Amino acid sequence: NKVIEGEKLRKELHNNILELKGNIRVFCRVRPLLPDEGSSTEGKIISYPTSMEASGRGIELTQNGQKHSFTYDKVFAPDASQEEVFIEISQLVQSALDGYKVCIFAYGQTGSGKTYTMMGRPGHPEEKGLIPRSLEQIFQTKQSQQPQGWKYEMQSSSEGTPTRVENGTPGKQYTIKHDANGNTHVSDLTVVDVQSVKEVAFLLNQAANSRSVGKTQMNEQSSRSHFVFTLRLYGVNESTDQQAQGILNLIDLAGSERLSRSGSTGDRLKETQAINKSLSSLSDVIFALAKKEDHIPFRNSKLTYLLQPCLGGDSKTLMFVNISPDQASAGESLCSLRFASRVNACEIGTPRCHT
Ligand code: ADP
Repeated sequence: NKVIEGEKLRKELHNNILELKGNIRVFCRVRPLLPDEGSSTEGKIISYPTSMEASGRGIELTQNGQKHSFTYDKVFAPDASQEEVFIEISQLVQSALDGYKVCIFAYGQTGSGKTYTMMGRPGHPEEKGLIPRSLEQIFQTKQSQQPQGWKYEMQSSSEGTPTRVENGTPGKQYTIKHDANGNTHVSDLTVVDVQSVKEVAFLLNQAANSRSVGKTQMNEQSSRSHFVFTLRLYGVNESTDQQAQGILNLIDLAGSERLSRSGSTGDRLKETQAINKSLSSLSDVIFALAKKEDHIPFRNSKLTYLLQPCLGGDSKTLMFVNISPDQASAGESLCSLRFASRVNACEIGTPRCHT
């Protein structure tokens, strides 16, 4: 029965996603107030238009007495559970198994909930994030499709892409090469064949721990690099000879805060500048793809060059814009919401409508 239910849900989600056509989908997620933020939040800055309540797509932010309204494909209020959020993206995970190239980004200022959305809260398995949940789904599907002849092989890699290198200061030197077969080779990156959820979880932990973490005023654990988790899926159906080669990229972007607010100086300031540069390179690529320009500036940052094969074409892209409900962050939140609106308006690639 569970299987039939699951299959029904999957079909429904599939139809919902197809309705969204070829644009970049954007989901907005507002995190709850943290215990030490209460006092700075007299007067709520976030509200949800009642006309939009049923669809769950609208959000309003009030700054300096002015209300700004936005609409996205989905808005998650602070009470949305990790499971509810995952249900909305699980079809994209299935798409990767079906042979699509999928990118899911988390964008927002430091402390807005990007890592919580992607990884979850350490030590709280019920609050695990999109990456571990996606892996579980993939391994479950892998097993359940075996009787129909499908066999999957997987390779996983995860790495913080070094914003420092782009800035010219010493850091890990990566070279990225795309070969004629559409494979991407990154020096110094460990790509491993994976057989079980446990193996991937171990690798993920290692990568997350080695991520460059520095201190700024924004957040003690402020992450100063992008974190890219890539899972390559090679599927072969031994009875029909069908093949599927999909890629799932889950990307926790470095904080988007502006220089003045991060309070960075010295090396940290240089890093913040480099992060801003690579985030603007990402938006340049997205907007160039949307305008169908002849030249797409993939090579302007390591991040966009790494993801080149997975952006545009018939790939599927989803961006989470993570928002803090704290009054002190209203300016940054407004910037993030505006950026996300521009991204949401983009139509890139060819919509694939198959059943
Ligand atoms: P970022 O990765 O954007 O810097 P984090 O994911 O580290 O931000 O979130 C900042 C803090 O808020 C963390 O303590 C995190 O556990 C908490 N948090 C973020 N989102 C949620 C949420 N939806 N529910 C509960 N706590 C959250």
